[in-house]
Amino acid sequence: MAWPATDPDDVALLEEIRTIPKVELHQHITGSIPVDLTWRLMTEHKLAPVETIEEMERLLVLQEEETGSLLSYLDKFHYPHWVSQFYENLAEVTFRIAQEAHARGVKVLELRSAPVKHTYAGMSIRQAIVAVLEGLNRANTELGMATGLVVIGMRQMGPHIAKILARQAIAESQHLHERTGVIGFDIAGAERGNPPGLFREAFDIARKGGLGLTAHAGEDEGPEMVWQAIDELGCTRIGHGCAALADEELVRRLAKDKILVECCITSNDQTGAVERGSARTHPIHRFLEAGVPVAICTDNVTVSGTDQLRENLYLAKDERYSLDDLARIHRGAAGHAFTDQAADALE
Ligand SMILES: [Zn+2]
Repeated sequence: MAWPATDPDDVALLEEIRTIPKVELHQHITGSIPVDLTWRLMTEHKLAPVETIEEMERLLVLQEEETGSLLSYLDKFHYPHWVSQFYENLAEVTFRIAQEAHARGVKVLELRSAPVKHTYAGMSIRQAIVAVLEGLNRANTELGMATGLVVIGMRQMGPHIAKILARQAIAESQHLHERTGVIGFDIAGAERGNPPGLFREAFDIARKGGLGLTAHAGEDEGPEMVWQAIDELGCTRIGHGCAALADEELVRRLAKDKILVECCITSNDQTGAVERGSARTHPIHRFLEAGVPVAICTDNVTVSGTDQLRENLYLAKDERYSLDDLARIHRGAAGHAFTDQAADALE
């Protein structure tokens, strides 16, 4: 997709989009650390693998020749993990991500992270969760955003590790905090060979601990993954869910039970979850038509080279939608947020 926007009409439209109070329900921390901050932390820690920030940017942002597969997309998360193994860094990058979202009119921000991937320098899983909460609490008090953390179990690490993560997540869950806490549980990573049904016990633990449930499903595999996420895991939100369109009964079910699909248009284009260059035919349009609740999400601001303004621009430039429709989609998404401060934050 052709970014950055150079059309002057787009620039004006982007400014209008900025004023819409927005809800971000699907954004990963490691895929969203701004390039300049990654570079500063890398050079501070003497970790920079290249000489210049421009070369670093090519390693962090998906390049055109790398698009088309989920696995090459996931490969871009290699370097961000180098700088997110330390408590202070993780708290700092989280706050900075929130600041960038806030500057684009995001009022409700649910960030997600896989704590186990921040433990390689000795941080515990619990510390990796608390560091993110520290950054989110700063965003809450300094920027007035409604925030929360969705903890991710990585599929390829298997169901046992996912159960450990679910226990750690509920130990920091929102209802135990006066401030921001963990609000949800998710699974992500390679879908193939790791169907949602394998993670049932982890999701049972998360549900009993009061967490909201979502799962990456139907991004790289078929509609049966979405069925499993709903029927076996009890998810009330689905990450991506592109494959649902292949099954009309499933689309009807999502609409009937008001299961929200977290839609990430740029990311889906880049990973090959949908046909390339197809913003106009992205599943979000069919979901909206069928009455399935949706959220407009970035997935990974840095890796995907996008932000909330640009994701909304796809719809704003489409004659089927008005800016009021966009505002309505965000208000609707607030009703599906796992954080209970979402409605207040939009006012
Ligand atoms: Zn995702």
